[in-house]
Amino acid sequence: MIKDNLNEVRASLKDGVCLVAVSKYHPVEAVEAAYAEGQRIFGESREQELRVKYDTLPKDIQWHFIGHLQTNKVKYIAPYITMIEAVDSLKLMKEIEKQAEKCNRVIDILLELHLAQEETKSGMTLDECRAMLKEGEWKNMSHVRICGIMMMASNTDDEEKIKKEFLAANDFYNEIKAQYFANDKAFAVKSYGMSHDYLLAQECGSNHVRVGSRIFSE
Ligand SMILES: *Cc1c(COP(=O)(O)O)cnc(C)c1O
Repeated sequence: MIKDNLNEVRASLKDGVCLVAVSKYHPVEAVEAAYAEGQRIFGESREQELRVKYDTLPKDIQWHFIGHLQTNKVKYIAPYITMIEAVDSLKLMKEIEKQAEKCNRVIDILLELHLAQEETKSGMTLDECRAMLKEGEWKNMSHVRICGIMMMASNTDDEEKIKKEFLAANDFYNEIKAQYFANDKAFAVKSYGMSHDYLLAQECGSNHVRVGSRIFSE
């Protein structure tokens, strides 16, 4: 049951860890079941699926876009999205700035990092991210608010390896926090941990976990 799963996940989280209930591929009724238990933050990874849910479901839901976002889709979600978690290029950030300005909004984003070893994982390498921050164009974007980092660990049973990746993310967060966001209270999010590794992630410093199948699959 979604209700029981959700409450078990919640009970296992430390104070201050934000739970994003990842409802992608699950029907509107599944979101409603979690909503009835008080869950308000949901994650989706496809624009059209999100649009249907946004239109149908209560407007106090905070939607996080957690998947790879194509620049040509930004305009569709800009009017209502709460956070775009997987920002992996300056180009995408510029498009979010442009569309957010049109809607007269400031959109919260996370910088997506590539720390896993698989080729398939998206995100910026640490050096790409450093170069992007150093270059500085982001400082002129008044409709984008960088709130932290997001990453996915390698898809493996090797806990030591996953742990290393989470700790590397933590180190990188501390590095850029000190260098660019030391006085910025909004820069506070470390988004890592999914169904199979969120407990380890929170032990390694995550304060924002994205949990899907553990809640929504029977
Ligand atoms: C699907 C997805 C999740 C949730 O994965 P589960 O294993 O179902 O918990 C988290 N983050 C991202 C980026 C995803 O695409």
